[in-house]
Amino acid sequence: MTGERTETDLCVIGAGSGGLTVAAGASQMGARVVLIEKGKMGGDCLNTGCVPSKALIAAAERAHLAAGGGAFGIRCQAVEVDYKAVHDHVQGVIAAIAPNDSEARFRDLGVTVIKGHARFTGRRQVTVGEQTIRARRFVIASGSSPAIPPIDGLDKVPYLTNETIFDLADRPHSLMVIGGGPIGLEIAQAMARLGVSVTVLEKFSFLPRDDPEAAAVVLESLRQDGVKLLDAVDIEGLTGDRAAIRVSGQRKGQPLSLAASHLLVATGRRPNVDDLGLERAGIDFSPRGIAVDRKLRTGNRRVFAIGDVTGGLQFTHVAAAEAGIVLRNALFPFSTRSGGKAVPWVTYTDPELAHVGLTEAAAREKGGPVRVLRWPLADNDRAQAERRTDGLIKVVTGRRGRILGATIAAAGAGELILPWVLAIDAGLGIGAMAGVIAPYPTVAEISKRVAGSYYTPALFAPPMRRLVRLLMRLP
Ligand code: FAD
Repeated sequence: MTGERTETDLCVIGAGSGGLTVAAGASQMGARVVLIEKGKMGGDCLNTGCVPSKALIAAAERAHLAAGGGAFGIRCQAVEVDYKAVHDHVQGVIAAIAPNDSEARFRDLGVTVIKGHARFTGRRQVTVGEQTIRARRFVIASGSSPAIPPIDGLDKVPYLTNETIFDLADRPHSLMVIGGGPIGLEIAQAMARLGVSVTVLEKFSFLPRDDPEAAAVVLESLRQDGVKLLDAVDIEGLTGDRAAIRVSGQRKGQPLSLAASHLLVATGRRPNVDDLGLERAGIDFSPRGIAVDRKLRTGNRRVFAIGDVTGGLQFTHVAAAEAGIVLRNALFPFSTRSGGKAVPWVTYTDPELAHVGLTEAAAREKGGPVRVLRWPLADNDRAQAERRTDGLIKVVTGRRGRILGATIAAAGAGELILPWVLAIDAGLGIGAMAGVIAPYPTVAEISKRVAGSYYTPALFAPPMRRLVRLLMRLP
């Protein structure tokens, strides 16, 4: 090879949530860093994931609130959705955040940014076009792509994924979503609220990872928004063209035939392991991702892998947390392990569904004493004032009231879960949450109230009543 050769301390492949965090941290700590990105800086989260989906959801919420003001005595004229303007809002939010992830910012931080496709050509060598980079350590943060299921005819019809749906400048007349996980349901509800007729087809059950009681609240809300939710669907084939896409299949023993103007495939993610030259670097991988140990090292001790490409929990905050671990393990002689921290996740439907720790089912499966505490949103004064009473908080405790898990289905549940993440990480008992002074009236009070309910049976039981009566007789 005749091209340019670069020697560096750390070479990072992929400028998404994981790669950017490693590159920024390592460079600011004094390492020489090369960051390689073949697509847009910012990766999935900024361009085709978290940011555009949450911006779309925000627009949809505006439409929903405007249409639903009657109960508050506020009536609007019919709500009109200018979908092109919604598209511009979504792209505008991406543009507002993009400078944080830009080449210019990273160059200013001292990072050498190379645009192009990186491949390993040896155990400690990567090439990009004609350029060769040799490094003491490498971090692979190449992310994931939409997994496309092998459905007959899918390759012959036009379909959308998260990589294309946010580019639509015209509102779809109708949308069929294949896949009833968080991504499919978030987009389905947002589109329905923006006036699209939406049907979601799920092969198994909706939101299977979440607590079924809390998930049911979310699914009911989607139905109220007009989303048609069909589980246990066996899709046999797809036909159609730009005018309409038709799906045929079976559902619970009955033939199923549906049509929509647009189709969104949201059937999970596939780690980006192809065409990285992993074999040449001695890195073990499978279609499920790059294999890493608890120090996030691959089979090649000089190479680490983080984020979606490892096939673990696929969230931006997980990629960023793993970046922190790799920073320590790649730059310093002492090493840190992943795991041991509670990882929250949130589905940004309305109401949101937030979870951390063990679900009730998982706690019971582990054995030991389990108590489940519930507090309905309807018993929260602020939720009543806001007329957002759908939902509940559910907390699972173990021996001596130790907090094992929490699930919240509520408007803003993603904002409400953090104290429970801290409680689980700190190994707190339920008494710590019951004892806090929560501001009134806030929805956040549900955390204190649910924790307090742990003590209610003992506090108001006959022995306590007898004791108090006795004490009251004392002079
Ligand atoms: P990415 O951010 O995908 O970055 C990988 C980068 O590597 C890409 O830019 C890619 O171009 C580049 N790359 C790949 N191969 C090469 C190569 N050979 N050479 C050079 N560059 C390469 N997570 C949340 O926590 N909250 C959310 O609300 C949320 N919403 C989401 C909504 C949607 C619709 C989707 C699809 C995902 C969402 N996620 C959310 C998940 C989140 O986006 C990912 O977990 C996160 O982006 C993973 O970061 P990463 O660094 O592993 O990969």
